[in-house]
Amino acid sequence: MSKPCKIEVTGVSKIFRKNGTNVAALSETNLAVEEGRFASIIGPSGCGKSTLFHIIAGLMTPTAGDVTVDGQSIVGKAGTVGYMLQKDLLLPWRTILDNIILGLEIRGIPRAQAVERALPLMKKYGLGGFETHYPTELSGGMRQRAALLRTLLYDRDILLLDEPFGALDAQTRLSMQNWLLEIWSDFGKTVLFVTHDIDEAVYLSDDIYVFSPRPGHIRAKITVPIGRPRKAEDLTAPRFMEMKHHLLDLLSAGQVQAEEIS
Ligand code: ADP
Repeated sequence: MSKPCKIEVTGVSKIFRKNGTNVAALSETNLAVEEGRFASIIGPSGCGKSTLFHIIAGLMTPTAGDVTVDGQSIVGKAGTVGYMLQKDLLLPWRTILDNIILGLEIRGIPRAQAVERALPLMKKYGLGGFETHYPTELSGGMRQRAALLRTLLYDRDILLLDEPFGALDAQTRLSMQNWLLEIWSDFGKTVLFVTHDIDEAVYLSDDIYVFSPRPGHIRAKITVPIGRPRKAEDLTAPRFMEMKHHLLDLLSAGQVQAEEIS
């Protein structure tokens, strides 16, 4: 029996008014992610992926449609999900530790308690020894680790990750992907992940939603039929290559109906 949906987006559309004209960013978008799954969204630039994340995060209201978490509508309600943007947005004047505990502080958790929670996580997930460093002293990959740990400590069941590794070089990216999979498997979060990179989507995801060009809607949902744990060598295996070609076809095709492969 399949698990209940953790997050469900139903008939979501978004029209922006720009210089007196309407810009349709999203049209009739539907998706449903079961608890604990890793789902990625891929699509062309400007197809409305960030708009969808803003709506799910409650930072923007849709023109039509609904978003539910555990069956309850969260439209316009900020704070239900953890949301990490591509740019790490670490505060340059705070140490890495103080950046990581920011969400806890905002929620009124005493600093000593927040620090007690953050330190073991920093140690376990590759930031031990960097507590008193400032963001500018860290590499791009380390900063993304810090930003993700901060999002994790916000303690929400759902993580929205908008191209978190987009600006990293290939080598760092692969180690960050493995690092993220470790966190995902340790914490059992439901993840929605935006990426431009098909390899990355196949390597990380249980399900991949392919967006159409703007106004964005889900063109296809693909379930990745490859077991875990996955390894870097898998990226060149025939099954991965097949998936990649299929996704490329979907991204470039004009008229493709939603389908499911499992
Ligand atoms: P993606 O994340 O897929 O690159 P976005 O969600 O950022 O796409 O944007 C989708 C479309 O909506 C783009 O054409 C963008 O210019 C437009 N758009 C996004 N935000 C706004 C806004 N606040 N006002 C007007 N147009 C916007």
